Amino acid sequence: MKHTDRETLERYVSGDLSALRKIMIARHLKNCQACSRLQAEIKTGNELVDSLRKARNTYMDFEKDDKAAAVFSSLETCLGASRMKKQESN
Ligand SMILES: [Zn+2]
Repeated sequence: MKHTDRETLERYVSGDLSALRKIMIARHLKNCQACSRLQAEIKTGNELVDSLRKARNTYMDFEKDDKAAAVFSSLETCLGASRMKKQESN
């Protein structure tokens, strides 16, 4: 059985796949612990990115604080800033 790669799983989590592809992946996830664990990891990552973005929006004053801004930017890098930017441009 062929495993689902991370990029495909990320698109699956964000709903960015065709209906047929989703069904095939859902079926695979039911039977594959490794891939469903990776999917859970991606979901958690997305939730962290969302919380981070909310926190940043709530504490906009942090942007004026160099140290806090540095912490936020390194956290963003860790959590996949590219994914975050993609979502923001929607
Ligand atoms: Zn698998």
